Amino acid sequence: MTSEPRGELPLRELLLDGKQVPAADGRTFTVLDPSNGTALAQVALAGAADVDQAVAAARAAFTAPEWARMRAADRGRLLNRIAQAIRAEAGQLAHLESRDVGKPLGQAKADVEAAARYFEFYAGVADKLGGSTIPLGPGLLDYTVREPIGVSGQIIPFNYPLQNTARGSAPALAAGCTVVLKPSPEAPLTPLEIGRIALECGLPPGVLNVLPGDGETGAALAGHPDIDQVTFTGSVPTGIKVAQAAAANVVPSVVELGGKSPVVVFADADFDLALGAVAGSAFGNAGQTCSAGTRILLQRGAEEFLDKLVAHAASLKLGPGLTDPDIGPLVAARQRDRVQGYLDLARQEGADVRTGGGAPADPALADGYYIEPTVLTGLTNQARCAREEIFGPVVTVIDFDDPEEALAIANDTPYGLSSYVWTRDLDKALRMAEGIRAGQVYVNATGVGTGIELPFGGYKHSGWGREKGLEALASYTQTKNVCIGFGNGS
Ligand code: NAD
Repeated sequence: MTSEPRGELPLRELLLDGKQVPAADGRTFTVLDPSNGTALAQVALAGAADVDQAVAAARAAFTAPEWARMRAADRGRLLNRIAQAIRAEAGQLAHLESRDVGKPLGQAKADVEAAARYFEFYAGVADKLGGSTIPLGPGLLDYTVREPIGVSGQIIPFNYPLQNTARGSAPALAAGCTVVLKPSPEAPLTPLEIGRIALECGLPPGVLNVLPGDGETGAALAGHPDIDQVTFTGSVPTGIKVAQAAAANVVPSVVELGGKSPVVVFADADFDLALGAVAGSAFGNAGQTCSAGTRILLQRGAEEFLDKLVAHAASLKLGPGLTDPDIGPLVAARQRDRVQGYLDLARQEGADVRTGGGAPADPALADGYYIEPTVLTGLTNQARCAREEIFGPVVTVIDFDDPEEALAIANDTPYGLSSYVWTRDLDKALRMAEGIRAGQVYVNATGVGTGIELPFGGYKHSGWGREKGLEALASYTQTKNVCIGFGNGS
């Protein structure tokens, strides 16, 4: 993101109350292509006045008959149409996502399909959000109704803009809520496209508003007194600010934050099976994945796996997203510099850089924000590079002897998002699954390519609340209890 004006690029406007409009104060920003640093798009920058307008539009749409009185089955049909329209535009959406974020085209295509799946999945539950009856005895009828919570403010990060737009908005819309969504200034293009597609599919104006903006825009949304709920995905420090701002208005929040997820590889694991999955989790999306397995705990005696991992990492091809390489650039120069800072720190901390360690030497990549896939050994779990979320293609490998030690190291982290266990021994697998304090445990499996249907969220500093699956609907509904006395029974 840069505020330098680029008049030659067409302006991508805010999506507010069903219309594409410039920001109230006329501000714009430029989105850069991370593979070469050139200007990719000029985008309207929403300010507090635009947030006010969007929240007012979402509030009005929430009670307007065309949305509030729409039958749940029709809401489901509408979400299905959005899913189909996303698939129909898969080519251009993947292309745009790949250029905006820098991710390999194949990954971008998978993200388009995941976005469609979110709408499809929640389309199917729109008409199944029933309540219950509670037996209070003769002369009393007690029942519950699951009502939509209202206006949902959604703030998303840069790393999976298509998926995160769909992940929050689809369940909210299925429940009958309306949404004001603020994408990251580093990746605002496909969220705007999802908003346009939804509108073209017949979503009433004001039901889904998309306001590209920066931290100030996000703060205006999180602290807005007229929203009913906040869904935030991003870093821990920002998540704390968002949760505090929402709490000041007694507005509930879901905060999906960072991670430093352990990958426990026992000596009896199927190394060939584990290798692709471990590398895909750590290095896919250039390591910019909240659930990436970046802390590899390797049982002594399993050094062969380390050799394979180092060789595999060294073989991965870097390049612009559109050439569909193994690894694309990081999203922005600030992200590349942050990762490089951690790599410099790792050397100071005494790490042995087994492969990678910085920007690639290839002059063709010099203008992009690339970092080589990197494997670090020789650090303890106390090193900052082993504890802090780097958010780049960097793993630390730490040795352990037995399951107890593995569990202790796995849990010695402020985070608790995902975890991965590789072993052929069911007893060890179940002990780890029971003992690891994290929202997700994968055994001989990886989170990549799974996950619309299952609940996702963090323990500890990785956040609270759950997205995905049926559990996400808890954030977008609230329960009303109705107790009726009749006859003389009460
Ligand atoms: P970030 O916290 O810097 O920004 C996230 C969003 O918050 C952006 O839209 C940003 O503009 C906005 N924002 C910034 N300051 C704000 C404020 N004061 N009030 C309200 N909004 C504000 O995160 P990022 O760098 O975009 O994304 C990377 C982080 O996201 C990593 O920590 C990663 O682990 C996390 N993440 C978590 C999940 C998950 O599901 N748990 C998924 C993806 C990413």
